[in-house]
Amino acid sequence: MNPVIDSKLPHAGTTIFTVMSALASEHKAINLGQGFPDYPMSEALVESVHQAMKEGHNQYVHMNGFLPLREALAEKVSFLYGSEIHPENEITITPGGTYALYTALTTILQPGDEVIVFEPAYDSYIPAIELNGAKAITIELKFPDYSIDWEKVKSSVNENTKAIMINSPHNPTGSVLSEKDIMTLKGIVHDTRIFIISDEVYEHLIFDGKQHESILKYPELLNRSIVCFSFGKVYNCTGWKLGYCIAPGWIMSEFRKIHQFNSFTCDTPKQVALADFLKNRDQYLELGNQLQQKRDYFKSLMAATKFRPLPSFGSYFQIYSYGHLSEENEKDFAVRLTKKAGVATIPVSAFYREATNNKVLRFCFSKQNKTLEAAAERLAKFS
Ligand code: PMP
Ligand code: GLN
Repeated sequence: MNPVIDSKLPHAGTTIFTVMSALASEHKAINLGQGFPDYPMSEALVESVHQAMKEGHNQYVHMNGFLPLREALAEKVSFLYGSEIHPENEITITPGGTYALYTALTTILQPGDEVIVFEPAYDSYIPAIELNGAKAITIELKFPDYSIDWEKVKSSVNENTKAIMINSPHNPTGSVLSEKDIMTLKGIVHDTRIFIISDEVYEHLIFDGKQHESILKYPELLNRSIVCFSFGKVYNCTGWKLGYCIAPGWIMSEFRKIHQFNSFTCDTPKQVALADFLKNRDQYLELGNQLQQKRDYFKSLMAATKFRPLPSFGSYFQIYSYGHLSEENEKDFAVRLTKKAGVATIPVSAFYREATNNKVLRFCFSKQNKTLEAAAERLAKFS
């Protein structure tokens, strides 16, 4: 007799990012699917990691993260958001943002709890909720501006609601929460025991003069929040898989109980290098402008194609509609586009639990100009 796995995720396949990247490489397509830059990261930061290794920073660092890095982060969030975060008790360095989100959910959830999730939702959220025995209550963002229907949120809250997950700037749509959104959220949770899990991995990638409304700016909300970040998006090093999490001490102490038995700690030399690198504010302050230029350049190139843009105010992503070109569903169309036009994208339907077909695709524009030019040229020929 063989052992049997009773799958914890019976309906999950391979993530769409891996599927589309594999298809892109199989068909030698330009990959505007998975979100990662194709330009190099800072040489100086790479050099600094070498240096840290040569200096012997090669053993386990403190389980909560290299303290000077946590101190540098506390300084950064004080400067950016005016929040006084205690580096010893309120910040933990994690092996990526996805891990931070998973651990955050595991920290607070018990079987039967409900978590409100807005769709389209980053693909790890719902599996992470379900792996904890909890239930995702999905609310669709309003198409086509992907704003939150707060009346629906109010009517979905009940005694089982344990958390609300937010993500701004938003993957995959590039929508951004306003101060008014945050105030409405504050009003909804005020007299409840609801936690907020805030995914802010794209905090610096925000355009058109908009401000990132971090939960860290709102002490009353921060007191019930776990806020997750990723270094991958800030320093063009998604492959480093390093991130961090900020939460009040009473939540963080429980988060760390789980973290210590999971990865325990993460990459030492990179943390040493980042502690120093973070002191240069220009690196992250210039990011929004750099990516806005990429978004605008990509949009100008795409004007020569038949695809129609939806607004994007942040993140690496721009959504385009193709409904006037084809009746195919998003997945089929994205596959055909990869094979026939040689450009890989992500079908936005992959970010919904139930079938949906707004006929929109997500394009990642954090690419070299020549990559964007080549992709637009191929798309212009596609009909
Ligand atoms: N949240 C969102 C919205 C993302 O797009 C990503 C992927 N970049 C993550 C979390 C995870 O970040 P990381 O690669 O650091 O795990
Ligand atoms: N966050 C990236 C995206 O949305 C990909 C990360 C991953 O492949 N899991 O494309």
